[in-house]
Amino acid sequence: MSDFVTGITFGGTVWTPAYVTDINAKTCIGCGRCFKVCPRDVFDLVEKSSIMEDDDFDDDYGDFEDDDENMVMTIKNALDCIGCEACSKVCPKDCFTHEHKIAA
Ligand code: SF4
Ligand code: SF4
Repeated sequence: MSDFVTGITFGGTVWTPAYVTDINAKTCIGCGRCFKVCPRDVFDLVEKSSIMEDDDFDDDYGDFEDDDENMVMTIKNALDCIGCEACSKVCPKDCFTHEHKIAA
């Protein structure tokens, strides 16, 4: 059984970081919530047309006034992620995939 990289809270509790490995571009509405909460320089909001065809996009939404249907979030700098999962907690579309990291 593999051991995963762990962290420790100020109070001494061990926790296991879950690093971002993927964002579902088909469900992302470009709202920017994840970008705002991420403590690291992991994300980049880009033109949807730069990464996918228009007919790939699920546009069954419109219930978030700050979304931008022309934009989609991407992972710019995965190696800077600390695995805090704040991005997933604020994402209204459950776009994120996270993975633990096997300790060296
Ligand atoms: S897990 Fe934390 S550090 Fe990593 S991308 Fe999400 S908010 Fe940023
Ligand atoms: S919070 Fe979710 S829906 Fe909003 S930009 Fe980030 S990945 Fe996309």
